Amino acid sequence: MEIKIGIIGKSDGWESVLSQIGIPFSICSNVDEVKLNSFPIIVLSDDITTHQLLAVKKYIETGGCVICSAAVIDNISLERSKRDYIKYLVSDLLGVFADSEIIDVYTDATISEGASHLKTDKNIPAVLASKFGDGFVVILPFDVDALFENTNSKKKNFYLEGKRLPFENVSLVSKGSLRRLITKSIELIYSHCNLHFGHKWYYPDGHKSVFIFRVDTDYGTEEQVDSLYKLSQMYQIPITWFVDVKSQQKWISKYSEMQNHEIGVHCYEHTVYESYADNYSNIRKALEIMKANGINSKGFAAPFGKWNPALGQAVRDLDFEYSSEFAYDYDNLPSFTNYSTLQIPVHPICIGSLRRQGYTAGEMIAYYENEIEKKLKLNEPIILYHHPTNENIDVVEKIFQRLHSIDIPKLTMHQFAEWWNKREKANVIIQQDGTILNVNTEHAIPELRLRLASPAGKETITASEPSIELDKISWQEKEIPLPLPKDIHRIRKFNIWMLINKIEDYFFTGRK
Ligand SMILES: [Zn+2]
Repeated sequence: MEIKIGIIGKSDGWESVLSQIGIPFSICSNVDEVKLNSFPIIVLSDDITTHQLLAVKKYIETGGCVICSAAVIDNISLERSKRDYIKYLVSDLLGVFADSEIIDVYTDATISEGASHLKTDKNIPAVLASKFGDGFVVILPFDVDALFENTNSKKKNFYLEGKRLPFENVSLVSKGSLRRLITKSIELIYSHCNLHFGHKWYYPDGHKSVFIFRVDTDYGTEEQVDSLYKLSQMYQIPITWFVDVKSQQKWISKYSEMQNHEIGVHCYEHTVYESYADNYSNIRKALEIMKANGINSKGFAAPFGKWNPALGQAVRDLDFEYSSEFAYDYDNLPSFTNYSTLQIPVHPICIGSLRRQGYTAGEMIAYYENEIEKKLKLNEPIILYHHPTNENIDVVEKIFQRLHSIDIPKLTMHQFAEWWNKREKANVIIQQDGTILNVNTEHAIPELRLRLASPAGKETITASEPSIELDKISWQEKEIPLPLPKDIHRIRKFNIWMLINKIEDYFFTGRK
């Protein structure tokens, strides 16, 4: 049996998330291909046709496994699901769907009768995972493809126990926690079918995570930039600088002298425009000035982490190899935007956001310690960002000290982008034959590893060898994510400081 996924219906969002996970997939353009022995799992989007639906019904009846929305199942079942609007889902405390974050979806939803996993913001269980005919289904309350395609953003709070909450304008859908839900659903189905789940691992050489430190240089003085540079040299942690060109034009050549760092473009004017032409000329002006100073930038990060389609097109046309905007995505693995540019998400709360809510240095350090711990347990990249004008260099030093003691690669964003592109091109075909996994890799790279999950619920990271003997592997217990705090609902309640800070910005900085 080949370990791969078939997609029926609209597929851009599904392709994006399955590529992130690193599991082989094909689009079933001809539904007659949908046979049990060719696809252990089929995923569906809501726009499937009646003809496709009938083929899927037959597939499920003969023991096929499916991930889809309750709206799709309503068309082939006698039961009618309940309609509702869901702001977010809260993960289960234990079991396969446990997670350390909520899943923001903000969407009209259809909730299956008998759903028993992940409660909505109104405390209603919303996900059904169960046997169906001879097969197994995971029925979600929404169309996964549409959610991964959503590029809207929203101001959201981030959690810290008992404190005024920091917030940032970030992508409306929390695509990172949604991706984890999909990964767990696939894993659950494979284990139900008594098959091993295998996918490309996220980091080179089987590392648990990577650390990237990004600095947007917004109005920083030469001295502030210097002290960050010295600190990073001391801890041998490279910084990825995104230069605010206009305010630092006089001494911009300083960036070209930095050793082992990456210099990217933030902007000329510190703003993101609605129009393509304005974004294009603003970024090109910054690029030209940097080039004249001997700096050839490959990466871009927009002011305020904003993203819109006009910006996405300008970034593509200016040939950047990647960009990084939390209004597009945050706390997640990289993915490709609709404009084919690689997007590298960061954790969107910087020292400045915490400072603004009155955090002491000690509280800031506690906040980042918890974030680092959370990311390590989820095997997600630790990507933090900072501004030289936020100062609090003592907090940055504590973060560097903590990371210095963790054995994971410290990369620039461009190094991570290069790795991710190579991983994306490595095409892995995995076949389970009894206790042997046969692995065939096109465009193989030596640093590539596979993560395997066994039906018994254990996992391992292993070299991508042509033949893997499953009973000779030393399987390990899965990492358990940090539990969701009991008062997690706080983060989606109204936060008066969003309003107060907005008024302050309007009167004191002109930022709207
Ligand atoms: Zn900025």
